[in-house]
Amino acid sequence: MTDTRYLVHGVFWDGPAPAAVPVPGESGGGLPAMRLQDPDGTLTELALDAGTRLGFRLAAKGKHCLGHHKVHGPADRDHVLCPARAAATKGSQCERCFVLDDSRLIHDFHRGGRVPPGLRAYLMQPHWLYVATFANGASKVGTASHLRKWHRLAEQGAVVARYVARAEDGRVVRILEDMITRDAGLPQQVRAAAKAAALVAPAAAVELDAVNGRLAGEARTLLAGAGGEGFEVVDERWVRPELSANACAQAARHAYPHDLGTGTHGFRVESLSGSIALAALDGSELEFVVNLGQLKARMIEFGDHGSAVPAVQESLF
Ligand SMILES: [Zn+2]
Repeated sequence: MTDTRYLVHGVFWDGPAPAAVPVPGESGGGLPAMRLQDPDGTLTELALDAGTRLGFRLAAKGKHCLGHHKVHGPADRDHVLCPARAAATKGSQCERCFVLDDSRLIHDFHRGGRVPPGLRAYLMQPHWLYVATFANGASKVGTASHLRKWHRLAEQGAVVARYVARAEDGRVVRILEDMITRDAGLPQQVRAAAKAAALVAPAAAVELDAVNGRLAGEARTLLAGAGGEGFEVVDERWVRPELSANACAQAARHAYPHDLGTGTHGFRVESLSGSIALAALDGSELEFVVNLGQLKARMIEFGDHGSAVPAVQESLF
């Protein structure tokens, strides 16, 4: 893969969801991959697992457009790559691809916004409402389409999560989501930087479970009292992938000290929560938290590189 410039699309958890009850000897399911676009416009998947070594060089300045999606139905969508691989000016898209993207219309659908027929079919599938808690106890309410029920939370990097309602479509679920935000004060977003910072010193699993259980209970009480049609209150735990276990465990580690937007990097992925890796550097026993999400829309070249080990104090606790 050396000398080929890849545009990083991000880390995706598209594998099968793990069994609700772990099967001895089988993986926790849903192994993630980094999606890469080669110069010919072919997308490839680099599987990420415990022990995967990543060595790369940032091969261009700034971010490049990842294209846009056209949604045709619940499980049917086209990813249209940016013909020019233009500079990204709207997050990870250029102006043109941002305007063409169906998904930007999703957020106004429940307020009466008009959507094309394919996106409408996608939104009319059943959806789940969940409460997710991250490593420092920060929590959010969110929604997942039925087909992405498990995967959505894996990509979010939840430490603990519970589903609190099953809605008949994507309109109802977003009305419920807004209600939980308004009446329970739960935000709809926790920033990636905050998730990464939290994984440097995760709270105890028992505490995070208690926080999530309490907030999910409050959400269920509000939902049960809300009346209205098109949903049922549920009480169901999300099963965290096995590959995330070490990242979410209480331990002392360090924030990755280098800027992923420039230079060369190399480390071994030990565990992965969403897009955030627990990584080992050559020549150090310490663990570092690396937000691989920062590589999204960046151009990289793989190679035999290793990140410099910073001088850090061993005992911060
Ligand atoms: Zn574009």
